[in-house]
Formats: sequence, structure tokens, C-alpha cells
Amino acid sequence: MSKKYSKAPAEVAERAASLIKKFHPDLGLVGIKIDFLSVAVDKEGETPLSLRGIPCYAIVKIVGVKERTKGCGDAEITIDEERYNKMDDSQKNALLDHEIYHLNIVRNVHGIPKKDCRGRPKLKMRKHDIEFGWFNEIATRHGSASIECRQATQLMLTGKQTYFQFALKMKALPAGVEATVTLVD
Ligand SMILES: [Zn+2]
Repeated sequence: MSKKYSKAPAEVAERAASLIKKFHPDLGLVGIKIDFLSVAVDKEGETPLSLRGIPCYAIVKIVGVKERTKGCGDAEITIDEERYNKMDDSQKNALLDHEIYHLNIVRNVHGIPKKDCRGRPKLKMRKHDIEFGWFNEIATRHGSASIECRQATQLMLTGKQTYFQFALKMKALPAGVEATVTLVD
């Protein structure tokens, strides 16, 4: 399998710019620069992006000062070209908003954004509120004693409004739905 990287189509950067304007004005204020890449594979059925073996729709990375000095952006978002192209507008928005939401501005004690030696904004990765690492077999074997079932129960009880109001309306998961995982470094 070989991977083919390209600069993402202008549509991706334009969509991200409007999401930043709408939902992440703080990133807009510090003039964040994001590089958008897309990646595809030459082999059908393979996925170009994965983390810990789990396929991802997109990956976000904070770019270090050396790369920024070479002309790169402050952060980089790589999308799985094939999967992205199959998404509708609202799904594309949700995916890019997710990746952008990972980017958190580092601030001093007065709340002023910190800058690196190039005058670019310092960023840190916002971690997911919820992450799963579940084995079906362990859940089946140990039931309510397993972390799997305890987390699932907690999510069902406390995250009902957030996560399950949509699930109840869905008859089945759309084909190809898998976990989204983002690189945190
Ligand atoms: Zn993520």
C-alpha cells in the first residue's frame, strides 16, 4: 500500500475558515494558520489514516516551531480524501469542527495568548472529553465489573441528552461509520 498526499482542495480550507469564524473566534483572533492535506491509498479497502490501529477520518497535529520557520502553518489537518468526499456538508462541518476544537491557545496568567519565537501562537492539544478502549469479549465476560460496562452505563446515564438523542432516531448506523481518532502529541 502506498499513500498519496496532496494539498487538500480549497473547499476544505474555506469550510474551516467559516467554522473558525463561527465557533472558534479566539483562533481567528490569533491569526492561526492551518495547513490542510488529504491522503489516499492506492489499494481498495485500506485506510490511509489510523491511530493505534483504528481508522481515522482525519488527524490534527500541532506544528513545531522549526517547521513553522520553514513556512508551515501552526497546525496541520490531514483528511482521508475518500471518506471525506463521501460525506455530506453537515458531516464535513462536524469533522473539521472536531479537529479544529482540538486546537487550544496557550495563554499566560493574564489570559493573553502566548507566542513562540516566530511570533506565532503557542498551541496545545485539547483532549477528548470521552475516549473508549473497549473489548466486547471483556464486557461479555465480566459484565458490570468491567470498565467497558461501567463506562457504557455512565455514558448512558450522564450523556443521554448529548449522545443518544440522535441514536434513538437512527434505525441503523450509516454504512462505514467507525470511530474517529485524532492524534494527540
Ligand atoms: Zn479528536
